[in-house]
Amino acid sequence: MRTILVVEDEPQIAGLVRDYLEHAGFAVLSASDGNGALALVRARRPDVIVLDLGLPGIDGLDVLRSIRRDSAVPILILTARSDETDRVTGLELGADDYVVKPFSPKELVARVRAVLRRVDARPLANERLVAGSLELDLARRRVLADGHPVDLTPTEFELLATLAREPGRVWTRSQLLDAVRGFSLETYERAIDGHIRNLRRKLEPNGPGTRFVRTVHGVGYALEDGEA
Ligand code: CA
Repeated sequence: MRTILVVEDEPQIAGLVRDYLEHAGFAVLSASDGNGALALVRARRPDVIVLDLGLPGIDGLDVLRSIRRDSAVPILILTARSDETDRVTGLELGADDYVVKPFSPKELVARVRAVLRRVDARPLANERLVAGSLELDLARRRVLADGHPVDLTPTEFELLATLAREPGRVWTRSQLLDAVRGFSLETYERAIDGHIRNLRRKLEPNGPGTRFVRTVHGVGYALEDGEA
């Protein structure tokens, strides 16, 4: 059974979300603040985290940042309708999707399932992509850059796999967004810039970060095709 950690300080919303997720067949863990959430992430290793950004104590965005420091667990953030800045920052910090409050619990369950489907999407068992000194094992969702393993979030992995399927092809942000989300409910193209930034930092921790993924000004991004 998949375990979902719900981080929400409003008991009524937390209870409703728990009911719907349990009804959908998930095991649910709850935390009402950031410290509780971080402790549960370490101790119980949930499969998905639903994280409200408006938390007492440690700010939700700081909780997100802390989780991302050592975990690639899929994270779905809950934000207030008025907080577009938080939403974009959350996606840039590595959240995989977001739901705006007030939301329908059914929609939340559907988004949790969609995130898990993306994580579970298993291509042919032996599918490997090699682009220059990057190697992607699509079945195991592992990446080697110059022979070193790189730990990516599900969204970063999808992004890199999309680029690596056609090295040299130039993608617009909107095309990349479609590719990583599978469906595009609202387009937050700036979020792609955030994921690309994280991806570059991980692929090339000690360099300028632009060796693998090239910016095509005015268009988007492309993976180096090794012919430069
Ligand atoms: Ca709240």
